[in-house]
Amino acid sequence: MTMTMSGTMSGGKTDVLISVSEAKLHYKVGGALAAMRGKSTVVKAVDGVSFDIRHGESIGLLGESGCGKTSMGRLLLKLEPMTGGSVHFDGYDLSTLTKAQLRDFRSRAQLIFQNPFDAINPRFSIRATLAEPLENAGIAKSEREGLIIKALELVKLPHPLSFLDRYPHQLSGGQLQRVVMARALILQPQFVVADEPVSMLDVSVRAGVLNVFRDVRDRLGLTAIYISHDLALVRYVCERTIVMYLGRVMEDGRTEDIVREPLHPYTKALVAAVPVPHTDQSHAPLPIGRGAPDPRNPPSGCVFRDRCPAAHERCAAEVPQPKHVGDRLVACHLY
Ligand code: SF4
Repeated sequence: MTMTMSGTMSGGKTDVLISVSEAKLHYKVGGALAAMRGKSTVVKAVDGVSFDIRHGESIGLLGESGCGKTSMGRLLLKLEPMTGGSVHFDGYDLSTLTKAQLRDFRSRAQLIFQNPFDAINPRFSIRATLAEPLENAGIAKSEREGLIIKALELVKLPHPLSFLDRYPHQLSGGQLQRVVMARALILQPQFVVADEPVSMLDVSVRAGVLNVFRDVRDRLGLTAIYISHDLALVRYVCERTIVMYLGRVMEDGRTEDIVREPLHPYTKALVAAVPVPHTDQSHAPLPIGRGAPDPRNPPSGCVFRDRCPAAHERCAAEVPQPKHVGDRLVACHLY
């Protein structure tokens, strides 16, 4: 049985839209030279992750760079081939979709890219940028202009008609990220993965873009995954947070509970590094010393143990499995 936040077999609840069970994404890296030196040539970007996402739920995938959160997001969108486990979307196993089911899935599940400057073809006008997904989905030409304008209105770009013939270099970063959002939303998806959507933007425009994201999500009743290394942003956007470290889930629970009383030692470190509101304090360094270990050679047992202030003998010998602690899941031998 796969332990998830719902505590049922994955996919067993009717309100579950997405069910992830023991998902794995392993990459081969380094090639023959690394193998000759005795280095492992496999990076376990996602390694046995399980959770359910209910209809309309917003979940933050949180962790430092290299924790596997972006890889997990890509597995949810079937943008990477899974090494093991399964992802079910609305009852369909993503690994066995027919062509017609895949086309349907592509319109119902969308990615909001991290970097708007890379996400959009600089040679396409905004009209052409937004027309592309409509054309791919077989929407008649006569209907496209109206849908494009609606999508630009949805992301609160004022005077949307004035944007249609402009090119990406004529837009600010904040405007361009709204166009990226409009393109992800134009086919009226049910589920979006937003991969650090404000991290490349100037601090002064981040709040505006985040507010648009929250507003659109609520108005459309979207199910959303928000990927970030920033707990303060996740707290602002998501009701539930899944903390990842080296490809595994460390803690999964309501965001407010996690912020107020983190249980896993890694989550405690993330919470301790959040800046105090209304001060100039930027993010403090994580109070757990050096960075994450080489993902090709993670520690035995608990992957967090060489940074964990509470590590003990059992942590080297045994991988901690997620356990219910109240209404949270925590993967740590302390519980
Ligand atoms: Fe720390 Fe051990 Fe818990 Fe891992 S299992 S977080 S090393 S106490």
